Amino acid sequence: MVSSLLNNYATPPIMVSHGKGSWLWDKNGKRYLDFSSGIAVTSLGHCHPLWNLRLKSQIDQLAHASNLFANEPQECLAKAIVSKSGIGKVFFCNSGAEANETLLKLSRLYGKKYRNGAYEVVIAENAFHGRTFGGMSATPQKKIQNGFEPLLPGFITAKYNDLSSFEKCISDRTAAVFIETIQGEGGIYPADLSFLKGLRELCDQRAVLLLIDEVQCGIGRTGAFFAFQHAKIQPDAIGMAKGIAGGFPMGAVWISENYTDLFYTGSHGTTFGGNPLACSAALAVLEIMESENLVSLAFHSGQKLMLALKKLSTFKKSITEIRGKGLMIGIELNIPATPVVTALRENGLLAVPAGNNIIRLLPPLNIND
Ligand code: PLP
Repeated sequence: MVSSLLNNYATPPIMVSHGKGSWLWDKNGKRYLDFSSGIAVTSLGHCHPLWNLRLKSQIDQLAHASNLFANEPQECLAKAIVSKSGIGKVFFCNSGAEANETLLKLSRLYGKKYRNGAYEVVIAENAFHGRTFGGMSATPQKKIQNGFEPLLPGFITAKYNDLSSFEKCISDRTAAVFIETIQGEGGIYPADLSFLKGLRELCDQRAVLLLIDEVQCGIGRTGAFFAFQHAKIQPDAIGMAKGIAGGFPMGAVWISENYTDLFYTGSHGTTFGGNPLACSAALAVLEIMESENLVSLAFHSGQKLMLALKKLSTFKKSITEIRGKGLMIGIELNIPATPVVTALRENGLLAVPAGNNIIRLLPPLNIND
Protein backbone atom coordinates (compact mmCIF):
# COMPACT_ATOMS: atom_id res chain seq x y z
CA MET A 1 0.00 0.00 0.00
CA VAL A 2 1.37 3.45 -0.90
CA SER A 3 1.24 5.66 2.17
CA SER A 4 0.10 9.27 1.96
CA LEU A 5 2.36 10.13 4.87
CA LEU A 6 5.50 12.21 4.36
CA ASN A 7 8.75 10.28 4.16
CA ASN A 8 10.36 11.89 7.22
CA TYR A 9 9.99 8.72 9.32
CA ALA A 10 11.46 5.32 8.44
CA THR A 11 8.84 2.87 7.17
CA PRO A 12 7.15 1.58 10.34
CA PRO A 13 7.61 -2.17 10.88
CA ILE A 14 4.18 -2.82 12.43
CA MET A 15 0.73 -1.24 12.53
CA VAL A 16 -0.38 -0.92 16.15
CA SER A 17 -3.95 -1.57 17.15
CA HIS A 18 -4.58 -1.35 20.91
CA GLY A 19 -2.89 -1.47 24.28
CA LYS A 20 -3.52 -2.50 27.88
CA GLY A 21 -1.08 -1.81 30.70
CA SER A 22 2.44 -2.77 29.59
CA TRP A 23 1.17 -4.61 26.51
CA LEU A 24 0.66 -3.41 22.97
CA TRP A 25 -1.00 -5.39 20.13
CA ASP A 26 -0.48 -5.03 16.40
CA LYS A 27 -3.15 -5.34 13.70
CA ASN A 28 -2.31 -9.02 13.25
CA GLY A 29 -3.05 -9.75 16.90
CA LYS A 30 0.59 -10.19 17.94
CA ARG A 31 1.25 -9.01 21.51
CA TYR A 32 4.36 -7.06 22.57
CA LEU A 33 5.75 -6.10 25.97
CA ASP A 34 6.06 -2.36 25.47
CA PHE A 35 9.38 -1.06 26.80
CA SER A 36 9.27 1.85 24.37
CA SER A 37 6.26 3.55 26.02
CA GLY A 38 5.78 5.71 22.93
CA ILE A 39 9.34 7.02 23.54
CA ALA A 40 8.98 7.71 27.27
CA VAL A 41 5.41 8.99 27.06
CA THR A 42 2.93 6.35 28.27
CA SER A 43 4.39 6.13 31.77
CA LEU A 44 1.17 4.68 33.22
CA GLY A 45 1.08 2.01 30.51
CA HIS A 46 -1.75 1.94 27.97
CA CYS A 47 -5.37 2.71 28.83
CA HIS A 48 -4.95 3.13 32.58
CA PRO A 49 -8.59 2.95 33.76
CA LEU A 50 -8.47 6.12 35.88
CA TRP A 51 -6.61 8.12 33.21
CA ASN A 52 -9.21 7.03 30.63
CA LEU A 53 -12.05 7.93 32.98
CA ARG A 54 -10.67 11.42 33.68
CA LEU A 55 -10.22 12.10 29.96
CA LYS A 56 -13.69 10.85 29.11
CA SER A 57 -15.37 12.99 31.73
CA GLN A 58 -13.39 16.09 30.66
CA ILE A 59 -14.38 15.49 27.02
CA ASP A 60 -18.01 15.48 28.08
CA GLN A 61 -17.50 18.79 29.88
CA LEU A 62 -15.12 20.87 27.71
CA ALA A 63 -12.17 20.06 25.44
CA HIS A 64 -10.86 23.45 24.38
CA ALA A 65 -11.56 27.14 24.77
CA SER A 66 -8.13 28.83 24.19
CA ASN A 67 -6.06 31.05 26.47
CA LEU A 68 -8.46 33.94 25.95
CA PHE A 69 -10.22 32.33 28.92
CA ALA A 70 -9.07 30.67 32.12
CA ASN A 71 -9.84 27.02 32.82
CA GLU A 72 -9.71 25.18 36.12
CA PRO A 73 -7.65 22.13 35.10
CA GLN A 74 -4.90 24.48 33.82
CA GLU A 75 -4.80 26.45 37.09
CA CYS A 76 -4.74 23.22 39.15
CA LEU A 77 -2.01 21.67 37.02
CA ALA A 78 0.19 24.79 37.18
CA LYS A 79 -0.11 24.71 41.00
CA ALA A 80 0.78 21.01 41.05
CA ILE A 81 3.87 21.58 38.87
CA VAL A 82 4.98 24.48 41.06
CA SER A 83 4.65 22.20 44.10
CA LYS A 84 7.08 19.76 42.42
CA SER A 85 9.49 22.36 40.99
CA GLY A 86 9.72 25.25 43.44
CA ILE A 87 8.36 28.79 43.66
CA GLY A 88 7.74 30.04 40.16
CA LYS A 89 5.26 29.93 37.32
CA VAL A 90 4.26 27.61 34.49
CA PHE A 91 3.61 27.96 30.75
CA PHE A 92 1.82 25.19 28.86
CA CYS A 93 2.46 24.15 25.27
CA ASN A 94 2.17 21.01 23.18
CA SER A 95 5.53 19.28 22.80
CA GLY A 96 9.08 19.03 24.06
CA ALA A 97 10.47 21.13 21.25
CA GLU A 98 7.99 23.87 22.00
CA ALA A 99 8.87 23.78 25.70
CA ASN A 100 12.53 24.18 24.75
CA GLU A 101 11.71 27.08 22.41
CA THR A 102 10.21 28.78 25.44
CA LEU A 103 13.43 28.22 27.41
CA LEU A 104 15.45 29.71 24.55
CA LYS A 105 13.13 32.72 24.33
CA LEU A 106 13.55 33.14 28.10
CA SER A 107 17.34 33.22 27.61
CA ARG A 108 16.98 36.05 25.05
CA LEU A 109 14.78 38.09 27.40
CA TYR A 110 17.23 37.47 30.24
CA GLY A 111 20.26 38.44 28.15
CA LYS A 112 18.61 41.68 27.07
CA LYS A 113 17.58 42.67 30.58
CA TYR A 114 20.56 41.52 32.64
CA ARG A 115 23.54 40.85 30.33
CA ASN A 116 23.80 43.75 27.85
CA GLY A 117 22.05 41.84 25.09
CA ALA A 118 24.06 38.63 25.48
CA TYR A 119 22.32 35.82 23.60
CA GLU A 120 24.71 32.89 23.42
CA VAL A 121 23.60 29.59 24.90
CA VAL A 122 26.14 26.99 25.95
CA ILE A 123 24.91 23.50 25.03
CA ALA A 124 26.41 20.01 25.33
CA GLU A 125 27.95 17.72 22.73
CA ASN A 126 25.60 14.88 21.76
CA ALA A 127 22.54 16.79 23.03
CA PHE A 128 19.05 16.50 21.59
CA HIS A 129 16.54 19.30 22.17
CA GLY A 130 13.97 18.89 19.37
CA ARG A 131 13.28 19.59 15.71
CA THR A 132 12.17 23.24 15.66
CA PHE A 133 14.77 25.79 14.55
CA GLY A 134 15.68 26.59 18.16
CA GLY A 135 15.74 22.94 19.21
CA MET A 136 17.73 21.92 16.14
CA SER A 137 20.23 24.74 16.60
CA ALA A 138 20.72 23.55 20.20
CA THR A 139 21.28 19.98 18.93
CA PRO A 140 24.88 19.81 17.68
CA GLN A 141 24.41 16.74 15.48
CA LYS A 142 24.88 16.86 11.72
CA LYS A 143 22.19 14.22 11.10
CA ILE A 144 19.62 16.51 12.73
CA GLN A 145 20.82 19.83 11.26
CA ASN A 146 21.77 18.81 7.71
CA GLY A 147 19.83 20.62 5.01
CA PHE A 148 18.19 23.14 7.33
CA GLU A 149 21.00 25.68 7.52
CA PRO A 150 21.28 28.53 8.26
CA LEU A 151 20.48 27.69 11.85
CA LEU A 152 20.01 30.14 14.71
CA PRO A 153 23.29 31.79 15.74
CA GLY A 154 24.77 31.78 19.22
CA PHE A 155 24.98 28.12 20.25
CA ILE A 156 28.35 27.18 21.77
CA THR A 157 29.08 23.50 22.30
CA ALA A 158 30.83 22.26 25.46
CA LYS A 159 31.75 18.73 26.52
CA TYR A 160 29.01 17.02 28.55
CA ASN A 161 30.05 16.16 32.11
CA ASP A 162 33.14 18.39 31.78
CA LEU A 163 32.79 21.44 33.99
CA SER A 164 35.97 23.13 32.79
CA SER A 165 34.75 22.87 29.19
CA PHE A 166 31.52 24.68 30.16
CA GLU A 167 33.55 27.22 32.12
CA LYS A 168 35.63 28.01 29.03
CA CYS A 169 32.55 28.43 26.85
CA ILE A 170 30.84 30.97 29.12
CA SER A 171 31.70 34.58 28.24
CA ASP A 172 30.19 38.08 28.31
CA ARG A 173 28.11 36.97 25.36
CA THR A 174 26.48 34.09 27.26
CA ALA A 175 22.90 34.28 28.46
CA ALA A 176 22.32 30.66 29.49
CA VAL A 177 23.58 27.11 29.83
CA PHE A 178 21.15 24.49 28.49
CA ILE A 179 21.48 20.75 29.08
CA GLU A 180 19.56 17.48 29.44
CA THR A 181 19.98 15.85 32.86
CA ILE A 182 20.23 12.51 31.06
CA GLN A 183 20.95 12.61 27.35
CA GLY A 184 18.20 10.43 25.89
CA GLU A 185 18.32 10.39 22.09
CA GLY A 186 22.11 10.67 22.32
CA GLY A 187 22.29 7.25 24.04
CA ILE A 188 21.35 7.45 27.76
CA TYR A 189 24.27 9.41 29.16
CA PRO A 190 23.46 10.67 32.68
CA ALA A 191 25.04 13.89 33.94
CA ASP A 192 27.26 13.22 36.96
CA LEU A 193 25.73 14.60 40.13
CA SER A 194 28.95 16.54 40.86
CA PHE A 195 28.85 18.01 37.34
CA LEU A 196 25.26 19.22 37.89
CA LYS A 197 26.17 20.75 41.25
CA GLY A 198 29.25 22.39 39.74
CA LEU A 199 27.25 23.73 36.81
CA ARG A 200 24.72 25.30 39.17
CA GLU A 201 27.54 27.05 41.06
CA LEU A 202 29.21 28.13 37.82
CA CYS A 203 25.97 29.62 36.45
CA ASP A 204 25.46 31.51 39.72
CA GLN A 205 29.04 32.86 39.70
CA ARG A 206 28.80 33.98 36.07
CA ALA A 207 25.18 35.22 36.35
CA VAL A 208 23.87 33.07 33.48
CA LEU A 209 20.69 31.01 33.50
CA LEU A 210 20.75 27.25 34.06
CA LEU A 211 18.07 25.79 31.78
CA ILE A 212 17.32 22.08 32.08
CA ASP A 213 15.63 19.89 29.50
CA GLU A 214 13.68 17.19 31.37
CA VAL A 215 11.53 16.32 28.38
CA GLN A 216 12.59 12.66 28.34
CA CYS A 217 14.03 12.02 31.80
CA GLY A 218 11.47 13.98 33.84
CA ILE A 219 8.09 13.16 35.45
CA GLY A 220 9.19 10.30 37.65
CA ARG A 221 11.03 8.16 35.12
CA THR A 222 14.38 8.12 36.94
CA GLY A 223 13.04 7.60 40.45
CA ALA A 224 12.80 11.32 41.25
CA PHE A 225 10.09 13.61 39.91
CA PHE A 226 12.80 15.48 37.97
CA ALA A 227 16.11 13.74 37.28
CA PHE A 228 18.15 16.80 38.40
CA GLN A 229 16.63 16.38 41.86
CA HIS A 230 19.03 13.47 42.41
CA ALA A 231 21.74 16.17 42.52
CA LYS A 232 19.68 18.40 44.85
CA ILE A 233 20.01 21.42 42.59
CA GLN A 234 17.44 23.95 41.42
CA PRO A 235 17.54 25.12 37.79
CA ASP A 236 16.28 28.55 36.72
CA ALA A 237 13.82 27.00 34.29
CA ILE A 238 12.74 23.47 33.29
CA GLY A 239 11.34 22.13 30.02
CA MET A 240 9.08 19.06 30.27
CA ALA A 241 6.76 17.07 27.99
CA LYS A 242 6.45 13.36 27.00
CA GLY A 243 5.31 11.59 30.21
CA ILE A 244 3.61 14.64 31.66
CA ALA A 245 0.16 13.83 30.25
CA GLY A 246 0.61 10.07 29.83
CA GLY A 247 0.00 10.01 26.08
CA PHE A 248 -1.92 13.22 25.47
CA PRO A 249 0.28 15.79 23.66
CA MET A 250 1.54 18.38 26.13
CA GLY A 251 4.65 20.36 26.96
CA ALA A 252 5.28 22.69 29.88
CA VAL A 253 7.89 25.07 31.19
CA TRP A 254 8.46 26.00 34.80
CA ILE A 255 10.33 29.28 35.43
CA SER A 256 11.78 30.29 38.79
CA GLU A 257 10.08 33.25 40.48
CA ASN A 258 13.23 35.36 39.87
CA TYR A 259 12.56 35.37 36.13
CA THR A 260 8.81 34.98 35.66
CA ASP A 261 8.44 38.71 34.96
CA LEU A 262 10.66 38.48 31.88
CA PHE A 263 7.67 37.23 29.88
CA TYR A 264 5.16 40.07 29.66
CA THR A 265 1.60 40.00 28.34
CA GLY A 266 1.65 39.22 24.64
CA SER A 267 5.29 38.06 24.55
CA HIS A 268 4.58 34.36 24.03
CA GLY A 269 1.70 31.97 23.51
CA THR A 270 0.15 29.04 21.69
CA THR A 271 -3.45 28.22 20.77
CA PHE A 272 -3.71 24.73 22.25
CA GLY A 273 -1.37 25.16 25.24
CA GLY A 274 -2.97 24.21 28.55
CA ASN A 275 -6.36 23.26 27.17
CA PRO A 276 -8.69 21.56 29.66
CA LEU A 277 -8.39 18.14 28.05
CA ALA A 278 -4.57 18.06 28.06
CA CYS A 279 -4.46 19.44 31.60
CA SER A 280 -6.97 16.87 32.85
CA ALA A 281 -4.80 14.14 31.32
CA ALA A 282 -1.76 15.51 33.15
CA LEU A 283 -3.67 15.92 36.42
CA ALA A 284 -4.70 12.27 36.12
CA VAL A 285 -1.04 11.28 35.59
CA LEU A 286 -0.02 13.15 38.76
CA GLU A 287 -2.93 11.70 40.74
CA ILE A 288 -2.06 8.16 39.68
CA MET A 289 1.67 8.67 40.24
CA GLU A 290 0.87 9.73 43.79
CA SER A 291 -1.68 7.03 44.61
CA GLU A 292 0.41 4.21 43.08
CA ASN A 293 3.71 5.55 44.41
CA LEU A 294 5.18 5.40 40.91
CA VAL A 295 8.29 7.52 41.45
CA SER A 296 9.58 5.17 44.11
CA LEU A 297 8.42 2.14 42.10
CA ALA A 298 10.37 3.39 39.06
CA PHE A 299 13.48 3.70 41.19
CA HIS A 300 13.22 0.16 42.60
CA SER A 301 12.12 -1.53 39.36
CA GLY A 302 14.96 0.27 37.60
CA GLN A 303 17.48 -1.08 40.10
CA LYS A 304 16.21 -4.65 39.60
CA LEU A 305 16.22 -4.38 35.82
CA MET A 306 19.67 -2.80 35.77
CA LEU A 307 21.06 -5.53 38.03
CA ALA A 308 19.63 -8.27 35.80
CA LEU A 309 21.04 -6.56 32.70
CA LYS A 310 24.45 -6.21 34.32
CA LYS A 311 24.42 -9.95 35.03
CA LEU A 312 23.47 -10.61 31.42
CA SER A 313 26.32 -8.38 30.24
CA THR A 314 28.88 -10.58 32.02
CA PHE A 315 28.29 -13.40 29.53
CA LYS A 316 26.99 -11.49 26.46
CA LYS A 317 30.12 -10.20 24.76
CA SER A 318 28.16 -7.79 22.53
CA ILE A 319 27.11 -5.73 25.58
CA THR A 320 29.75 -3.16 26.52
CA GLU A 321 27.91 -1.09 29.13
CA ILE A 322 24.62 -0.80 31.00
CA ARG A 323 23.82 2.72 32.21
CA GLY A 324 20.94 4.98 33.18
CA LYS A 325 18.73 5.77 36.14
CA GLY A 326 15.42 4.33 37.26
CA LEU A 327 13.47 3.20 34.21
CA MET A 328 15.58 5.07 31.67
CA ILE A 329 18.16 2.46 30.74
CA GLY A 330 20.71 2.21 27.96
CA ILE A 331 22.34 -1.03 26.82
CA GLU A 332 25.46 -0.14 24.85
CA LEU A 333 26.56 -2.72 22.28
CA ASN A 334 29.68 -3.20 20.20
CA ILE A 335 27.40 -3.82 17.22
CA PRO A 336 24.66 -1.61 15.65
CA ALA A 337 21.54 -1.45 17.80
CA THR A 338 18.83 -1.35 15.13
CA PRO A 339 19.04 -5.03 14.05
CA VAL A 340 18.96 -6.07 17.71
CA VAL A 341 15.91 -3.89 18.36
CA THR A 342 14.28 -5.57 15.33
CA ALA A 343 15.08 -9.02 16.73
CA LEU A 344 13.69 -8.02 20.13
CA ARG A 345 10.47 -6.85 18.48
CA GLU A 346 10.14 -10.08 16.52
CA ASN A 347 10.46 -11.87 19.85
CA GLY A 348 7.79 -9.68 21.45
CA LEU A 349 9.68 -6.87 23.20
CA LEU A 350 9.51 -3.24 22.05
CA ALA A 351 12.63 -1.13 22.72
CA VAL A 352 14.06 2.01 21.12
CA PRO A 353 17.47 2.45 19.49
CA ALA A 354 19.55 5.49 20.51
CA GLY A 355 22.81 6.83 19.07
CA ASN A 356 24.18 4.11 16.75
CA ASN A 357 24.74 1.25 19.13
CA ILE A 358 22.55 1.75 22.17
CA ILE A 359 19.26 0.05 23.02
CA ARG A 360 16.97 2.19 25.14
CA LEU A 361 14.56 0.59 27.60
CA LEU A 362 11.79 2.94 28.73
CA PRO A 363 9.17 0.72 30.41
CA PRO A 364 6.02 2.14 31.98
CA LEU A 365 6.67 3.28 35.55
CA ASN A 366 4.13 0.75 36.89
CA ILE A 367 5.82 -2.26 35.28
CA ASN A 368 5.73 -5.29 37.59
CA ASP A 369 8.35 -7.98 38.19
N1 PLP B 1 14.21 17.22 24.42
C1 PLP B 1 14.51 15.94 24.66
C2 PLP B 1 15.50 15.62 25.73
C3 PLP B 1 13.90 14.92 23.93
O1 PLP B 1 14.23 13.64 24.19
C4 PLP B 1 12.96 15.26 22.94
C5 PLP B 1 12.33 14.21 22.13
O2 PLP B 1 12.76 13.09 22.04
C6 PLP B 1 12.68 16.61 22.72
C7 PLP B 1 13.31 17.56 23.47
C8 PLP B 1 11.68 17.00 21.67
O3 PLP B 1 10.40 16.70 22.13
P1 PLP B 1 9.19 16.57 21.09
O4 PLP B 1 9.48 15.43 20.21
O5 PLP B 1 7.97 16.38 21.96
O6 PLP B 1 9.14 17.87 20.35
